[in-house]
Amino acid sequence: MELTSVRNIGIMAHIDAGKTTTTERILYYTGVNYEMGEVDEGTATMDWMVQEQERGITITSAATAVYWYLNNQKYHINIIDTPGHVDFTAEVERSLRVLDGVIAIFCAVGGVQPQSETVWRQANKYKVPRICYVNKMDRQGADFFRVIQQIKDKLGANPLALQLPLFEGEAFVGVVDLIERKAFKWDQASLGKEFFEVPIPEELLSQVEEYREKILEVVAEHNQELLEKFIDDPSSIKEEEIRAELRKLTIENKVYPVFCGASFQNIGVQKLLDAVCYYLPNPLDIPPVEGLHPKTGAKEVRHSSPDESLTALVFKIANDPFVGRLSYVRIYSGKITPGEQVYNANNGKKERIARLLRMHSNKQIPLETLEAGDIGAIVGLKFSKTGETLCDEKHPIVLEAIEFPEPVVNIAIEPQTQTDIDKLLQALNKFADEDPTFSVKVDDENGQTIISGMGELHLEIIVDRLKREYNLEVNLGKPQVAYREAVAKEILHREVYQQQTGGKGKFADIEIFVKPLSLNQKGLVFINNVKGKQVPKEIEQAIQRGILNAMQTGVFAGYPVYHAHVELTNINIHPVDSDPLAFEICASLAFREACRKTNMHLLEPIMKLEIVTPEDYLGDVTSDITRRRGEIVAVEPQIQAVSVKAYVPLAETFGYVTTLRSLTSGRATSTMEFSHYAIVPTELVREIVFKTKGIIVRQD
Ligand code: GDP
Repeated sequence: MELTSVRNIGIMAHIDAGKTTTTERILYYTGVNYEMGEVDEGTATMDWMVQEQERGITITSAATAVYWYLNNQKYHINIIDTPGHVDFTAEVERSLRVLDGVIAIFCAVGGVQPQSETVWRQANKYKVPRICYVNKMDRQGADFFRVIQQIKDKLGANPLALQLPLFEGEAFVGVVDLIERKAFKWDQASLGKEFFEVPIPEELLSQVEEYREKILEVVAEHNQELLEKFIDDPSSIKEEEIRAELRKLTIENKVYPVFCGASFQNIGVQKLLDAVCYYLPNPLDIPPVEGLHPKTGAKEVRHSSPDESLTALVFKIANDPFVGRLSYVRIYSGKITPGEQVYNANNGKKERIARLLRMHSNKQIPLETLEAGDIGAIVGLKFSKTGETLCDEKHPIVLEAIEFPEPVVNIAIEPQTQTDIDKLLQALNKFADEDPTFSVKVDDENGQTIISGMGELHLEIIVDRLKREYNLEVNLGKPQVAYREAVAKEILHREVYQQQTGGKGKFADIEIFVKPLSLNQKGLVFINNVKGKQVPKEIEQAIQRGILNAMQTGVFAGYPVYHAHVELTNINIHPVDSDPLAFEICASLAFREACRKTNMHLLEPIMKLEIVTPEDYLGDVTSDITRRRGEIVAVEPQIQAVSVKAYVPLAETFGYVTTLRSLTSGRATSTMEFSHYAIVPTELVREIVFKTKGIIVRQD
């Protein structure tokens, strides 16, 4: 396999823009599918989890391999499934990490919608090259040029049309390739498998020249040689030269080529596949991957070559009913073979690779080897989690971990039949293994099982899966907000810990200065600020450990402490009785005591809510948001609709989808994701704390 013919891509879209349909057509035309499944009937191949099909959304991030021929070269395209729903932003980010390029799909009528903006910005963060596909050109009100304008205006990107839509009367029938100056029409009798060249309609000729000129201007602007040709004689610029320059500009994120089609009508998809090969990067086009040596912390760089030592990132764990635990990996350098041992640089464990699989849709093809640049699934890994790095023990490397937000909603869960409790825990633990934004905990005090996730929908899907995959019926408590605590004022505190039990005593004495952090900072910021004394490393680490432990349960209402700035300002070490453990305990006590003495804030998760509604309901929708303590930040006109963006406290969002449905007779859509933590207004704090403590009292 030549690396230059490999493409690792994802497909991104606003919900309903046609991601599933387009993916399904790609699988069909590349020959993996034999029958064309229709999304509307819930048989699309990528949606292989049953309840995903019913919901019509794609949650898993599995990888599928397809092959495509262009100019007598065979291309190997791995399609990483990126979920479309915003409740699963973490899944999108995780897939972005292992992708080299993206097809961004837009609806020709709806254009750039709020959620497309979210996903586009995420792709910006990882500098992922993109090509754009304007789908649903067959629909009434479709407007190719308006969508291009929106990509420019709303996404701040630099789109460039490489095709024009081809109509016969009102009907969308094909595309005009601007580089080749050729029109293509798709044959419906073969379900779009066949397409053929037709003359460019007379009335389109001048528009073709106008838009071709724009392409030439862009390539000339960035390439001296082409600029000279452009000035002398534009017709001397060869098609290959245009494509080569456009490929370079796309990979540099300077240009976003735009194509069009109607996947559902089987028009345009093959040309989109050509574009993937022409313009999206291969694994050699992206910069070498960087990581750290786990012991020395030194920077490690690995090139995309099978001859370098192994570097692979586990980006998805899935439990397959037939083969068991599947670990999806992207190989950045080196190669792996079945039977071989690999080293997990994050947890220091060795793992054996039992089998290697390539996923062709939901079929599994066993592999002899998986090499740099490729994506596949390993069977046999027991201890490796999402985001961890596999490597050669002699040349260890840790890649930057994938960051996942902490869950913000908790719900108590119990099986309807008490004897199912073990089965339930087993299933939930499996889900937690697959999904880093989902967790399970058994409450020490009352024995309740609590599940936590990123939103109501997220947890609903878990409950659905329990029913379908494990035949488990459950009872759920009310959704609870995962509040956090934070120090509200500065405080200086000295803590002396002393114990004398028989032989050697325990002694630690520290002084800490605790102060608030700004809301965008998370976790512990620890500074050793002891003047004139040396603090041994192991004692300093023990103090940090002690504080981190204390932060897990706040003193105010028992919620974890979100963040704190702690300075160690003085320390007294006893030559005999002091050891790291004494300082760890002392630091925990010191932090708790400091929190008790100062004021604490209660923090609540704030969700970013985006709604698209027909204008008639705008008033009802916005006043409902205000009632929910929401803050409306933007109201923007859409095509025959308005989009509303708002921040709403999570506590006020439970059941929102149902309310919105009844407010708008089901005509509005909404998406929600966690945004940030904010201070709970004082007048609400008492009630929340009372409720939290009240539950505990009742349980007692
Ligand atoms: P996803 O949510 O982005 O995966 O979108 P789907 O592929 O599920 O498509 C959403 C809806 O749009 C479905 O009812 C499709 O049949 C329909 N659809 C998809 N592509 C087209 C198209 O090219 N033209 C038209 N008219 N409808 C389409």
